[in-house]
Amino acid sequence: TAATQQRPLLAANLERRLTEHPRPLKPNNELVFGHTFSDHMFMAEWSADKGWSNPLIKPYGKISLEPSAVVFHYAFECFEGLKAYKDAQGRIRLFRPDMNMSRLLRSTLRLTLPAFDTEELLACLKELLKVEKRWIPEGRGYSLYIRPTMIGTQESLGVGPSNRAMLFIICSPVGPYYRTGFNAVSLSARTDAVRAWPGGTGDYKLGLNYAPCIKLQLEAAKEGYQQNLWLFGNDHQITEVGTMNCFVFLKNEHGERELVTPPLDGTILPGVTRDSILALAREWNEFKVSERAINMKEVLQASQEGRLIEMFGAGTACIVSPDGWVEAETRESMKR
Ligand code: PMP
Repeated sequence: TAATQQRPLLAANLERRLTEHPRPLKPNNELVFGHTFSDHMFMAEWSADKGWSNPLIKPYGKISLEPSAVVFHYAFECFEGLKAYKDAQGRIRLFRPDMNMSRLLRSTLRLTLPAFDTEELLACLKELLKVEKRWIPEGRGYSLYIRPTMIGTQESLGVGPSNRAMLFIICSPVGPYYRTGFNAVSLSARTDAVRAWPGGTGDYKLGLNYAPCIKLQLEAAKEGYQQNLWLFGNDHQITEVGTMNCFVFLKNEHGERELVTPPLDGTILPGVTRDSILALAREWNEFKVSERAINMKEVLQASQEGRLIEMFGAGTACIVSPDGWVEAETRESMKR
């Protein structure tokens, strides 16, 4: 059949075209999140009739697309975010990259973009990192942020599946995500906007989930808050914070210490950091760990009764970020 004749994505076919003009590294203190890019990128192209091209490591550079490419019109784009670190021995370390590869595949399939073998893509990424090793910064809080991306590139204004796609990976040396470092961030909890909804796409890492949040982010910033606390439903359930999963650590009404994060009900991005925190906390077995709905009323009540121990956001970019102020729509403010 045509499907079996399609060429798969294979790391063994990886070609290398390396730059003759390696660029100077930036000192750690000049790194702004996602502004600096390494010398090389990974690229593979797919077409419905041929399947995957030979994957290629090539100099970081521009992509040429026609303005009719479906990515520009119907948001055929999904992405991942993970980090490579250098350990004390100078070896390259990735944090649970298999989870990012399978989440990318899941996003890809949601957009009817082409499937790929996640282990093959991970093998390609490892080769890219060997080439880019000098770009992995050293020092606590510093890493190489990796951005795998898939786009639909068919030249068509017809709303339908894309018969062409590009899969690329770019790398950016980064330091702490927030200028405040690991200090608490302040949150605006508004009730007139939602990030995701049941049956929507908030649990996939699609670019289309992110652009509409920027306006609200700017509005929060204008009022002096660093992030939005995304709520959902008439009872103002806590969903996520900025682009992080949200955790609440409290003493519950039965007097037990409990770490709570909302369940993966379709409105929550299944974060790798979230999964890791849940696994670690369950392994410690020192307090109750719950994936359950939690709303503003419960958090405010816990806060007023002195039972709120901590709230934090968790994600690859910012790692674990403590929350300071949360301004509720009721204008009742609370401080941890
Ligand atoms: N929620 C959203 C909306 C995100 O974009 C991210 C970043 N991928 C996260 C949570 C955290 O996920 P992870 O721990 O995998 O980075």
